[in-house]
Amino acid sequence: MMLPSFLQPRILAQALKALFSAPYTTKFPAEPFEPIDAFRGRPRFHEDDCIGCGACANVCPPKCIDIVDDLEGETPKRRLIQHLDGCIWCGQCARYCPTGKGIQMSHEYDCAGFKPEDFEERVEKELLMCEVCGETLAPTDQLRWLAKRLGPTAYANPTLLLAGGQGLGLVGPGVKSHDGTPRRGERMAVQCPKCRRKTAFAA
Ligand code: SF4
Ligand code: SF4
Repeated sequence: MMLPSFLQPRILAQALKALFSAPYTTKFPAEPFEPIDAFRGRPRFHEDDCIGCGACANVCPPKCIDIVDDLEGETPKRRLIQHLDGCIWCGQCARYCPTGKGIQMSHEYDCAGFKPEDFEERVEKELLMCEVCGETLAPTDQLRWLAKRLGPTAYANPTLLLAGGQGLGLVGPGVKSHDGTPRRGERMAVQCPKCRRKTAFAA
């Protein structure tokens, strides 16, 4: 005769074991929960280590990180906004961040909030513009980071050389081209690749 499932020896052994074991569930919120080191909690930007490159936004599967370039203000800025309500806590942003520390998975798990801003994480970076045509080049921190990584090789590119020199306080702020027409004399300016090609052949 077939025994009912709750009388099967394996099930009975499990029931007895559970009866005399400590509870598996945590007592949160009565007691704080201590996550393990590898726990993936709320992603957080770290302004000092973020270079504004936007790689995190590009690899984010649900596309919950927006890149907004604000060119209206006195200083052009790139804003990265992470929307927690669309986040699947996968950690791809942290994994592919080139600095390794610009965005990291924290141990925060209690993310209740009352306002939309409670579910947003932001970081702002100054943008460097082409001094000839005014096009957006890249965040200043990204070019400085690149110049540092490349070392002496960065001297081959005047834009990287100048961005790196500005970071060290050796070079002053750039001067905008008088009328936006590329000239040979502007070879040593902060330029987008398009203008750099044009100034190489300009009069
Ligand atoms: S540095 Fe990291 S956190 Fe900052 S924009 Fe790039 S990938 Fe995102
Ligand atoms: S954890 Fe995943 S879903 Fe959330 S912001 Fe990072 S990449 Fe996007």
